[in-house]
Amino acid sequence: MKNLLSNRINRLPVSQTLAMAAKARELKAAGKDIISLSLGEPDFNTPDFIKEAAIKAIKDNYNSYTPVNGYLDLREAICYKFKRDNQLEYHPNQIVVSTGAKQSLANVAMVLLNPGDEVLLPAPFWVSYEAMVNLAEAVPVTIPTSIKTDFKITPKQLEDAITPKTKLIFFNSPNNPSGSVYTEEEYRALAKVLEKYPNIFVISDEIYEHILYKGTNFSFARIKSMYNRTITVNGVSKSFAMTGWRIGYIGAPKWIAKACTKFQGQITSGANCIAQRATIAAVKSPVSKIKFMVDEFKIRRDLVLNLLSEIDGFKFNIPDGAFYVFPDISYYFGKTIKEVKINNATDFSLFLLEHANVATVTGDAFGQPNCIRLSYATSQDLLKEAIKRIKDVLS
Ligand code: PMP
Ligand code: GLU
Repeated sequence: MKNLLSNRINRLPVSQTLAMAAKARELKAAGKDIISLSLGEPDFNTPDFIKEAAIKAIKDNYNSYTPVNGYLDLREAICYKFKRDNQLEYHPNQIVVSTGAKQSLANVAMVLLNPGDEVLLPAPFWVSYEAMVNLAEAVPVTIPTSIKTDFKITPKQLEDAITPKTKLIFFNSPNNPSGSVYTEEEYRALAKVLEKYPNIFVISDEIYEHILYKGTNFSFARIKSMYNRTITVNGVSKSFAMTGWRIGYIGAPKWIAKACTKFQGQITSGANCIAQRATIAAVKSPVSKIKFMVDEFKIRRDLVLNLLSEIDGFKFNIPDGAFYVFPDISYYFGKTIKEVKINNATDFSLFLLEHANVATVTGDAFGQPNCIRLSYATSQDLLKEAIKRIKDVLS
């Protein structure tokens, strides 16, 4: 049949994290014993106090359309959270609540970017950034990094990548997929470069802020010269094990928040009423309530790094946050294992799926073609078994 779809959708790649997760689910349903380390999704249940807030909201008849930018008391609670956790002062009219941080990010891309604008993406970057930039008809400009710099960009790299067309840069710390965390000094050094280019905006995606094993999280908007051109993105998916509830939010200059509200008002309207009420309980709760999850993630990280270090050809950084490891497996490129020629990271990831029954995500999806991503948001037993399978199939 003739392809009648728009050029826009024909050009859009599928999300490779979601595609790999779907493939793993499909194989499992067909009876294959697959261990999925593909999706970045906490395996904990949403904490009870959040569930109770949602049940109460249903009983209290929260069932109508919500304000497009979110309930006022939720936006107030988010302001409280920004001040408490990030020392950021936002007014509720600078907050927009959306259906996941994914929508928050897409809103910002759609309201800020014009065709031809260049957008800097320090690589590795989360899969959907590049797709969102392309959807907005802007031009993604990748800034490559490697294990040597802990997958972080330097001020010189930033400066070299800037052109008169640069409009926006995506920062993500703790980073998905590398787990790298920028220090305050590193943020300030990058901000020094950006200070020279007042027309460049910054998206600071801090969705993994609490999943941190070393140091403290720093927010780009805390730097005075950056506050008026930074959009701070966050959400409850990761920190509160609420991926399916779909709540994300931004703190931004008022005019950007207003534009995002206008855009969202034509596309999806306000986010789900019950999930918004539950999010009030989540963001107001002391961070100590989710510490047990972070402690467990740290144990798993150490376990995974230990086990991977016993496999030939796996080189990696020590991730200080999020729940991914991102080994460089280029050692295997050009090699033939079990009659399969491995030419690149996608081949390697598919080889692991086929021959070890372990689902990972190719680094190509994150702009880093020498690596694969493993999510350790799953039980210690499954992690041990998965890495044993990988080791066995490679040796
Ligand atoms: N940013 C990053 C870096 C992510 O890994 C994800 C994946 N969950 C998101 C944003 C989007 O999160 P959500 O839409 O679930 O809030
Ligand atoms: N952010 C998670 C991941 O990177 C969830 C999947 C997605 O939304 O792309 O695996």
